[in-house]
Amino acid sequence: MGKLKSLIRNVALTTKLPCEPESYSSPVIEYGLNNEIEIYPMTHTDEILMHNPDSLLSNMAVKNIITSCVPAVKDVDNVYTPDIEALLLAIKIASVDDELEIYNVCPKCYELYNQTKEENRQKLIDEKKVLIDPQIFLFNARACLESMEKVPSKFIVPIKINDKDTLFINIKPLTLKESTEYELNDFNIKNAIQHFIIDSKNASENADMLSDIDNWKENRKRNNEFNELLVELDKSVLKMIKSSIDSITYNEELLTDEEDIDDVLSSINRKKFEEIRKCVDDANRSRLNKSVKCKCKCCGFEWTNENLEFNFSNFFGQSS
Ligand SMILES: [Zn+2]
Repeated sequence: MGKLKSLIRNVALTTKLPCEPESYSSPVIEYGLNNEIEIYPMTHTDEILMHNPDSLLSNMAVKNIITSCVPAVKDVDNVYTPDIEALLLAIKIASVDDELEIYNVCPKCYELYNQTKEENRQKLIDEKKVLIDPQIFLFNARACLESMEKVPSKFIVPIKINDKDTLFINIKPLTLKESTEYELNDFNIKNAIQHFIIDSKNASENADMLSDIDNWKENRKRNNEFNELLVELDKSVLKMIKSSIDSITYNEELLTDEEDIDDVLSSINRKKFEEIRKCVDDANRSRLNKSVKCKCKCCGFEWTNENLEFNFSNFFGQSS
């Protein structure tokens, strides 16, 4: 940082992160005293970047914003996703406030409105019996950040291979780079499947224009295409699981070779695979308690918004 820049831009807060520093095998983050990380507020340029839909899509914005606001992060691509989420929340607090405004529709009012005959709905609104507009609630982001859970430093799935031997699969959270790749891939395949379903529906509506044999050929072609898409989806999940496997311990030996990991993954049964998948989900799940208590200004109904959406793409979208 230049001299003037460092005079103008000050550290707004420091925070710990959910992943233990030891869980990183290379120095991606430079931890400060007590493993605290310094967070700077977003600059005007960061804010503009965040609101550019193109950069949101490519996840470039997340990388740029963390690089700009958290100089302690030396290699943002290799930061684990639970840490990324905590960093984004800390940056939001540093740039906006401890409390963030959340918009929610009252479920009770909405239900009553929907159960009312269409011609009487306006009257309900006019007489202030329901409020179907989104209402503003305050989310205490600082408290959320300070009460984050820790990510355990080890995730191990044992696989018994015979009476005396067991191998241990060591799992780690996904890095930003790995999770971005997986999400993009997953999005593209699911999109292709959706298109396929729409195309098939259109084709079946025109089916009576074709002869039986042509129909049969067409169906067979479509089945093959669909199977290929399912195989692609399976490959994408497998690749994500593979990126989550840090190593395999066998006979006290640490195996990190891709070939060894492939061998294990291709020979285990469905049940074990599901066990590994659950462990991968656990390693990557959010460690922030993102719930907000809400009370309707109109009917007084109280509810808790359990899992506030603030993933990478929409988190900075609802700016103050
Ligand atoms: Zn209400």
